[in-house]
Amino acid sequence: MSTLRVEDFAALRDRLAGRVVEPGHESWDKARTAWNLTADQHPAAVVVAASADDIAETVRFAFDNGYGVTAQGTGHGAAALTSRLDGVILIKTHEVRGVEIDPETRTARAQAGVLWMDVTGPAHEHGLAALAGSSPDVGVVGYTLGGGLSWLSRTYGVAANSVTAIEVVTADGQIIRTDADNDPALFWALRGGGGSFGIVTAIEFTLYPVPEVYAGVMFWPIERAAEVLHAWHDLVPSLPESMTTVGRLLMLPPIPEIPEPLRGRKFVVVEAIHLGGEREGAKLLAPLRELAPEMDTVATIPTSALSALHMDPEHPVPGAGDGMLLSDLEAGTIDEIAGLGTSGALDALLSVELRQLGGAIGRPTPGQGAVGHFDAAYAMFAVGIAPVPPAKRAVMAAVGTVIAALEQHRSDTSYINFHEQATDPAKVYTPTVHRRLAELKRWYDPTDVIRSNHPIAPAA
Ligand SMILES: Cc1cc2nc3c(=O)[nH]c(=O)nc-3n(C[C@H](O)[C@H](O)[C@H](O)COP(=O)(O)OP(=O)(O)OC[C@H]3O[C@@H](n4cnc5c(N)ncnc54)[C@H](O)[C@@H]3O)c2cc1C
Repeated sequence: MSTLRVEDFAALRDRLAGRVVEPGHESWDKARTAWNLTADQHPAAVVVAASADDIAETVRFAFDNGYGVTAQGTGHGAAALTSRLDGVILIKTHEVRGVEIDPETRTARAQAGVLWMDVTGPAHEHGLAALAGSSPDVGVVGYTLGGGLSWLSRTYGVAANSVTAIEVVTADGQIIRTDADNDPALFWALRGGGGSFGIVTAIEFTLYPVPEVYAGVMFWPIERAAEVLHAWHDLVPSLPESMTTVGRLLMLPPIPEIPEPLRGRKFVVVEAIHLGGEREGAKLLAPLRELAPEMDTVATIPTSALSALHMDPEHPVPGAGDGMLLSDLEAGTIDEIAGLGTSGALDALLSVELRQLGGAIGRPTPGQGAVGHFDAAYAMFAVGIAPVPPAKRAVMAAVGTVIAALEQHRSDTSYINFHEQATDPAKVYTPTVHRRLAELKRWYDPTDVIRSNHPIAPAA
């Protein structure tokens, strides 16, 4: 454990408009809580920043006083951070939440603590859409620094490719603006390398003219998992880039937060998002509709309503899970996953999803950052609710069962945003990208002041 130097934090407090909360303070437990309630965070102190200047002051303070420093927008990715907080000041950015939308240039500027829901609604008022993820309360910055897989990505690529500029506090406390022409190496590292290179105070990105989509979810009882997942898997290769689908098993607990027709039941579902009209979308999905889903919500909706499609919780939850990228999927593996679902072997989980990748997600883009495309066909994510340690053990055992069933299809790289657990970055990136990230970490932060949930260590 680090030695607390209370007088240091008093000096920091004097320099901030925001708050410094230390262990033992009456609001300590509230201050250290993350969105993922399983994350038991014990940093040296929490700074609730009120501005970009607060963030810069805190980084300077950490640099001068031998602390590490890390930022948290929401704590969706906090499970992998808890073991890394010894001697680290945790900057919470949720009060730095300004958004500007420019309909003329079709761009948005989001401050450090902005959530996707802060962008998607206002952008929609101008007929524009952002490359948001499935969840409305994920942070724009944390998501984008990892790459950013959106329902729109098969058409427009990963979110990091649409970033035009990033303002960041470097390890020595300077606020700089990075883009393709200014500090391009740092700009490259920030777009996919995660939170190891600086504390981001604002991010600017392109919006796209997508006011409506044809999207929703088809539900069948889980007993039909093999039939439905095979039909989905057979359909995937024929789908245009305008259509994204997810094959998914849902094991929904009998809790009041889940509406009555779904509560306490198990389903196989296909989620579909089509950037186009109903006529074409319905034709593409016809082979699935022939299987007569018990419920079918697929319809033309405002693009901003996509944030509800995946049914992600919009409040803090105790979740545990993990994911991987798959280079392909075979019929035998579909049988195995379906069999695990119908046998009850995955009942500790809430969801096992297989997201279709490909399209623009699979294509290298000129000028892309550390993560600009994925050479993989599917992304798998499995998650369960884990309010107490025995539940977490059961969830992680079931996650391990899913991963073992898919192991033969594991892609050479993976995706930090879908790793809830601490993972080896050398196995996430290609060797070339990982080496460059480590060299840039050594250049920008040789003494490892800036910490992250998925850290890149400075090259030796
Ligand atoms: C319910 C749910 C749904 C999700 N859906 C998707 C999805 O559709 N697509 C997808 O790609 N991912 C998805 N994710 C993964 C998500 O993108 C990552 O967990 C992401 O890191 C969350 O960012 P955050 O800021 O909300 O979380 P945080 O835990 O606050 O941040 C995660 C990490 O980002 C870095 N970071 C955050 N803010 C800053 C900053 N200001 N400066 C520097 N570094 C910073 C830090 O390293 C931090 O540890 C989902 C996760 C959950 C739990």
